[in-house]
Amino acid sequence: MDCIFCKIANGEFNTEFVYETENIVVFKDINPVAPTHLLVVPKKHYSNLSEVDDKNLLAELMETVQNVTKKLNIESFRTVINTGKEAGQEVFHLHIHIISGRKLEGLG
Ligand code: AMP
Ligand code: ZN
Repeated sequence: MDCIFCKIANGEFNTEFVYETENIVVFKDINPVAPTHLLVVPKKHYSNLSEVDDKNLLAELMETVQNVTKKLNIESFRTVINTGKEAGQEVFHLHIHIISGRKLEGLG
């Protein structure tokens, strides 16, 4: 499958992972909207959140948000998951944005 995040998770671009577990990688967003902008990405391909049928993975994704923010001493942050084009999803491989380092205003 021609999926950019599958390729990144496979190490095909030598992307630096700021955090990695057996099932998940975390790397910097290429087009950051804030001083810190990370993407938490399962190694297995799911096109969006609605496709995930693995409760353990859902829990692990959230734990990874906790662990990576703790590790990097990020106390205040926003998490975003876009599901579907109209919601702003551009890469159709599930990812959680971690956005931090500036004052964030309302959603939308
Ligand atoms: P979304 O709009 O939720 O699908 O978010 C996709 C995000 O992936 C955007 O913030 C992009 O800047 C980011 N992105 C796209 N290609 C890459 C890449 N090769 N490496 C890192 N981030 C990327
Ligand atoms: Zn993928």
